[in-house]
Amino acid sequence: MSTNSNTHANGNASSKALIIGGGVIGCSIAYELGKAGFHCTILDKGALLQEASTAAAGMLGAQVETHHPGSFYELCRASQALYPEWVEELEQASCLSVQYIREGVLRAALTQEDEKELRSRLPWIRQAEWLETEAMLQLEPELSPFIRGGLHLPADHQVHPVWLARALRASIVRQGCRILEWTPAFSLVSAPNGRVTGVRTSEGTLESDLVILSAGAWSPALTAPLGLQLPMFPVKGQCISVKTEAPLIRSTVFTKGCYVVPKLDGSYIIGATQVEAGFDKRATTGVIADLHDRASALLPRIADSEFLGTWAGLRPGTQDGLPFLGAWEEAPGLIFATGHYRNGILLAPVTGRIIRQVVLAEKPELDLSLFEPSRARIEAAPAFT
Ligand SMILES: Cc1cc2nc3c(=O)[nH]c(=O)nc-3n(C[C@H](O)[C@H](O)[C@H](O)COP(=O)(O)OP(=O)(O)OC[C@H]3O[C@@H](n4cnc5c(N)ncnc54)[C@H](O)[C@@H]3O)c2cc1C
Repeated sequence: MSTNSNTHANGNASSKALIIGGGVIGCSIAYELGKAGFHCTILDKGALLQEASTAAAGMLGAQVETHHPGSFYELCRASQALYPEWVEELEQASCLSVQYIREGVLRAALTQEDEKELRSRLPWIRQAEWLETEAMLQLEPELSPFIRGGLHLPADHQVHPVWLARALRASIVRQGCRILEWTPAFSLVSAPNGRVTGVRTSEGTLESDLVILSAGAWSPALTAPLGLQLPMFPVKGQCISVKTEAPLIRSTVFTKGCYVVPKLDGSYIIGATQVEAGFDKRATTGVIADLHDRASALLPRIADSEFLGTWAGLRPGTQDGLPFLGAWEEAPGLIFATGHYRNGILLAPVTGRIIRQVVLAEKPELDLSLFEPSRARIEAAPAFT
């Protein structure tokens, strides 16, 4: 991350911040900047928190979602560590529960290959132990006896994304954040020196000291006119929700290509597909059957469950699987917070904190070099020739 203040937005606590995109990332940034005294406005092309952020399952899966050590794992762990305090703040500010559940994840292996891959994580993954099948069944007796053991990941807690969204929205409203829904940002406005000074919207041009791009899978459309082709694409994920008469599991159970997340109301979210099919987010019937079959292989009694519903959302995928966080020296005034792919719920609190540190030019607590927006130039090199 560059420390040249020209690359930062030169924000101070009385600055105006304009946030494009009111998903969990934009809202967590508004919340964090609001606490620091910024006057925040959030723009959304639709209603706040109605895209990927409420299509999610709500796992805070720092351990289960990372396949090798490094900066991304550290980012996930840092956010996981912030969660208890963040939840407490949001619940107090909003008087709403986000349904934070401190049960962990059982990552079950169903094949020899999967078992090998999971065991290979043990030398570096923290807060994990290998359980043989019998021990897994002792923890969750409804699991299929055909699993080949798995990882017990007690720190991978979960929230309900819909309740998190409600609490986050209420918290930023309470802080005085200005919310402009059904107000798409059409393009960024730049001064002759390249500094981003505002956004053209359906309601006219809005000027701001800082512009924060957190438009999820739609972010590249706004940076392309600046010559930055963000290598991002939507990755459709469909889930189903079911209910059983008697409780099935307490932990989230997860295997390759499927997870089942128990919620406090007695329902289970079963997810999720991963399809690169543009911006189509229709939920399809074939996927319902497929997710049901995968979940039943893990938890046979799912077959007796009552079907509650299905939905799909668009994850903000990136070419290297990493988010874009921070400033880009060729467009001072613009801060990136996008591309959180499969982990935006988990990464929301740390993203808010990082963006606050960037705009106040504070020393970041984490190594952010892998997440620099400038890497888009290198990855998208052919687009510039
Ligand atoms: C099925 C599924 C399951 C998932 N499960 C998990 C999970 O268990 N744990 C986890 O951590 N993550 C999970 N994720 C990933 C997580 O949902 C995303 O990473 C996260 O929601 C991204 O948040 P965001 O705010 O960047 O994007 P979004 O929530 O998509 O928000 C972007 C916002 O920007 C707005 N916008 C776009 N363009 C414009 C514009 N031009 N002008 C104004 N507004 C604009 C959109 O309307 C939208 O509201 C899941 C995702 C899916 C789809």
